[in-house]
Amino acid sequence: MAPERASAPTARTKVRRRAGRGRYEREVIDSILDEGLVGHAAFVVERHPYAIPMLYGRTADTIYLHGSPLSRLLSRLADGVPMSFTVTIVDGLVLARSAFHHSLNYRSVVILGRGRAVREPALKLEALTALVEHAAPGRSAQARPPNEDELGATEVVELALDEASAKVRSGPPVDAPEDYALPVWAGELPLGLAIGQPITAARCALPPPANVLRYQRPRGETTAA
Ligand SMILES: Cc1cc2nc3c(=O)[nH]c(=O)nc-3n(C[C@H](O)[C@H](O)[C@H](O)COP(=O)(O)OP(=O)(O)OC[C@H]3O[C@@H](n4cnc5c(N)ncnc54)[C@H](O)[C@@H]3O)c2cc1C
Repeated sequence: MAPERASAPTARTKVRRRAGRGRYEREVIDSILDEGLVGHAAFVVERHPYAIPMLYGRTADTIYLHGSPLSRLLSRLADGVPMSFTVTIVDGLVLARSAFHHSLNYRSVVILGRGRAVREPALKLEALTALVEHAAPGRSAQARPPNEDELGATEVVELALDEASAKVRSGPPVDAPEDYALPVWAGELPLGLAIGQPITAARCALPPPANVLRYQRPRGETTAA
């Protein structure tokens, strides 16, 4: 098995509360990013913080975001303001015997840095392909690629995975010693993304392709270190 690429935490990415749940190996970070679907881009505008939900894609050491060049979000991020990008996967409810010890099983990643506009057409196309493939693997070989006008009407921002941390909680509830005798059910209730049946669009006479019919998110490691 290939050795894990460990990235040391920086002063800003070192997990403080429940530090044992902090993970810095790139394999763990990448697997959470690849399974997650949506992240939150956070940045400050006129001294007010915003956290905006967004789709994303990843190639190797870079996250890509996209949107309208007219969007305040994308134009700020393309300007290189300090930002963070957070991705969260909820794996389950952790139901303890006391309210205090209730928790969630989860995997999350926080990336810190500054965005950079991607304007070179070939790189932009690569980034947009990564975004499509992230949401729907196999789709970029099926759908018409963006034309020149569509590329021009899309802003793409990249964020390097230079400073990132993961945090992972898994397993059963941990109760206070005196509570184990309480007559209260305790355990885990796994949660996940539900994938429904495809709904074919009006004016489409084709059946859904296999990658849509068998759609699944890539499944990463779910246990804490
Ligand atoms: C799951 C998901 C994925 C998305 N993926 C993308 C993406 O990949 N690219 C993209 O450009 N956009 C995406 N959006 C939409 C995105 O969240 C913003 O709404 C959009 O980028 C518009 O930004 P703006 O700069 O025009 O808005 P802003 O000018 O930044 O927003 C003005 C105000 O509108 C409100 N607002 C903006 N967005 C939202 C929101 N999503 N929910 C509630 N209030 C909001 C806030 O109060 C904000 O201060 C996604 C939204 C969701 C929910």
